[in-house]
Amino acid sequence: MLKIAQMGNPVLRKRAEPVSAAELKDARTEFFIESMIASMREHGGAGLAAPQVHVSKQILVVEARGDDEDEAAGERIPLTVLVNPEITSFSQEVQEGWEGCLSVREIWGRVRRSRAVTVKALTRAGKEVEIRAEGFYAVVLQHEIDHLYGKIFLDRMDDMSTLCFTAEYRSHWRD
Ligand code: ZN
Repeated sequence: MLKIAQMGNPVLRKRAEPVSAAELKDARTEFFIESMIASMREHGGAGLAAPQVHVSKQILVVEARGDDEDEAAGERIPLTVLVNPEITSFSQEVQEGWEGCLSVREIWGRVRRSRAVTVKALTRAGKEVEIRAEGFYAVVLQHEIDHLYGKIFLDRMDDMSTLCFTAEYRSHWRD
């Protein structure tokens, strides 16, 4: 299992390097991606970006199986692995929701994000893809892509008075 970098670790504030075609073909990259998927599932996150596991590369994985008790219960996202992702369009329409992060343990806050985004990326097989995501999927992609640029969700909050710890989030805000 990969160890999760916590807020304060400089790796979370660096811009991640793009992955080259040669690196993507390397079996070590494939093994690393499998480890990222396993770690995301083990830690119960809806997404994980490589800098969160101390690797400053533009790789992210997302997945929601609809069974998370804290984060958008019931929402589903198919397992998606994106390499060198780039958001090519943001909807004008925004949505506001609760976000947490495996690198900012036990803290939740309200964040406003675009309701829909279009993302261009490479798959793990090196194929170009374009994804149009809405709702929770769009939020998770924006959150994970932010990690590749050294940003965390706290940077995106307009109102810090919504910050809360997990126990208080569950008692007062989650439902
Ligand atoms: Zn995060």
